Amino acid sequence: MLDGLFRPRGIGVIGASNNPYSIGYIVIRNLQEHGYKGPIFPINPKGGHIRCFKAFKSILDVDDPIDLVNISVAAKLIPQVIEDCGKKGVKFCIVHSAGFKEVGPEGIKREQEMVALAHEYGMRIFGPNSQGAQNADPEISSYANFTFVPMRPGNISIVAQGGGMGEMLKLHLYKVGIGHRLYCSYGNESDLTMPEILEYYGQDPGTRVIMMQTESFKDPAAFVRVAAQITPHKPILAIKAGRTREGSVAVASHTGTLVDQVAMARAMYRKAGVVQYYNTDDMIRAAIALGCQEPPPGRRIGMITNTGGPGIQAVDESVDRGLTLATWSPAGKQRLKESLYAEASLGNPVDVVATANADHYFAAVDTLLREESVDMVLVFFVTAPFTDTAAIARRLKEAIAASNKPTVIVIETFEKYQALIDDLRGAGIPVYEFAEDGARALAAMANYGEIRRRQWDAPPDVAAELVTARARVAQILAPHLGTGRYLSQAEAFDVLAAYGIPAPRLQQVASAADLDSATAAVGFPCVLKVDSAEVVHKSDEGGVALGLADRKALDAAFAAMRDRFAGTAATFVVQEQRPKGRELIVGVKACPGLGSLVMFGLGGVFVEVMRDVAFALAPLGRAEARAMMREIKGFPLLEGVRGEAPVDLAALEDVLVRVARLGADFPAIAEMDLNPVFAYPAGTAPVAVDVRLKVG
Ligand code: ADP
Ligand code: MG
Repeated sequence: MLDGLFRPRGIGVIGASNNPYSIGYIVIRNLQEHGYKGPIFPINPKGGHIRCFKAFKSILDVDDPIDLVNISVAAKLIPQVIEDCGKKGVKFCIVHSAGFKEVGPEGIKREQEMVALAHEYGMRIFGPNSQGAQNADPEISSYANFTFVPMRPGNISIVAQGGGMGEMLKLHLYKVGIGHRLYCSYGNESDLTMPEILEYYGQDPGTRVIMMQTESFKDPAAFVRVAAQITPHKPILAIKAGRTREGSVAVASHTGTLVDQVAMARAMYRKAGVVQYYNTDDMIRAAIALGCQEPPPGRRIGMITNTGGPGIQAVDESVDRGLTLATWSPAGKQRLKESLYAEASLGNPVDVVATANADHYFAAVDTLLREESVDMVLVFFVTAPFTDTAAIARRLKEAIAASNKPTVIVIETFEKYQALIDDLRGAGIPVYEFAEDGARALAAMANYGEIRRRQWDAPPDVAAELVTARARVAQILAPHLGTGRYLSQAEAFDVLAAYGIPAPRLQQVASAADLDSATAAVGFPCVLKVDSAEVVHKSDEGGVALGLADRKALDAAFAAMRDRFAGTAATFVVQEQRPKGRELIVGVKACPGLGSLVMFGLGGVFVEVMRDVAFALAPLGRAEARAMMREIKGFPLLEGVRGEAPVDLAALEDVLVRVARLGADFPAIAEMDLNPVFAYPAGTAPVAVDVRLKVG
């Protein structure tokens, strides 16, 4: 429970001083000016007064309970301070001071010692190198933070790793008159972790929306676990700092090179139902909308405007963001026709024309909100000087209040009409400046609505069906653990077989003497491949002979390949030749601290050039696997284009579920590429014709 941090019964400020540029002074001023409801205790060895408060020489001199302290003394003084706080019974220490982990080994040690000492007293450290924590709940009003944005109560809570980003989010909410609820920027995360804070936000009744920013995840798995508990009832919107690729790791597999911080974050957010943003303003707009209204039941948007151009902008943006344009029922259309000017246009958007009055606007909004085919409404409204804008605003509020479908208003105006905007916002209606902004906000709400409605089945335990699967894979991997080696083809295909991942028949051949038994087992046509840990791309090195129709062809290919790889430790495999299918790539990569990511994409140039791949965190249920396949841009190719038969998507889903289970069960599988997997029309199971598996 973090009540001591966000609802403290008393706050001590250690390092308090009368220097107006010191953190200690600013924290006291913030607490005082924002009307903190508890007592404030400045601590300064010299005593005296700080602002209007008596300063105590030691925290141990204070009789009243203190739950929280803000500490801004030099790092070397911290141990003594922590000791005193512990004795006093403080619950949380916000450490603003720098000079810890970020300065190297000595700082790391200092940080660890500080946390250990705090834990001896059952105390928790927030930070160090942190900004602070705030609660704008009027019953608490704690601004235990040294920053400057005035605090105004709202229902959006913010948790940010970086102070500058946290402040940016808070600042913008303040500027649009929305305010926030809980706020913190946690810095080094030496003790109290981001998932703990998130969990608290999730349970806070006054928090309706959570906005977060992270630079790196200390415990990614904990984040996913906690966030997944929250998102079915409260939206979490997130920005992950840094979009550059970890290009330096020379990994040989596609999955290896394509999995980076960005992909990891995406997969984590997806799994947990967190809505990801790349732009701060996009995220803030969405948070504002979700802070006011419930998400829509579907993706169909209805629009109303009193001017043409911005209406078109809204249409384009809506369609770009995956919304669909609603159409009206005959009755709805009739009502519009009867209520609006004759020159109004009754399509989507409904153009009520610039001279439209309050009754026209009311009729249009009310009609659309009552349409079964409309899930959400965007109202565009230029404050035409020849209309009674106040009356229009009044009737808009009336119509919107009568519906539980989300409605946003975009107002084209200037500061003279600020009171009008404030009035609409005050009524819980999101108001934006640009038509596109309104469309984006609604699309964001629709996205969250989908997350809330999604019903992902639990990942099935496919390995349990095959009783021996886990033991068999463990046995194959055992001699390779910790080596960073690639398994032989034969071993890697055995791993697939254990998990029921279909592959062509395969037989190992060490010498020509093995060809008899191999052909008996595999049949014709067949493929001969080199099997060597050193050969990464077999076909590039002449290590794949396709289309061997008979024994004569196989013998010749074998002789040639044996000569080519003479003097190496290479052996060979004979594999059943499968008819060409749609080529796909399925991969796995272990991400320490998180779990295993599964990758899915169309093979070849789609992966190498377009990077058109989707990632998901293993294990996967069927619905999640289905959603993942639909995430790639090339998905329509799998559904069949130009008269082609669609591939068997259900069978592919099954392969993804099995591969994900394998990855989740064996984090020792550092990387695995099934490249290609051939997918076929319904009735024929997909097959992995090539597998490369690296053990970590
Ligand atoms: P590598 O990727 O190491 O070059 P592969 O085993 O993937 O080697 O073989 C190269 C290509 O040959 C594959 O992309 C596929 O198109 C084709 N191929 C490989 N094995 C088979 C097979 N058993 N049946 C049909 N085509 C195959
Ligand atoms: Mg291959």
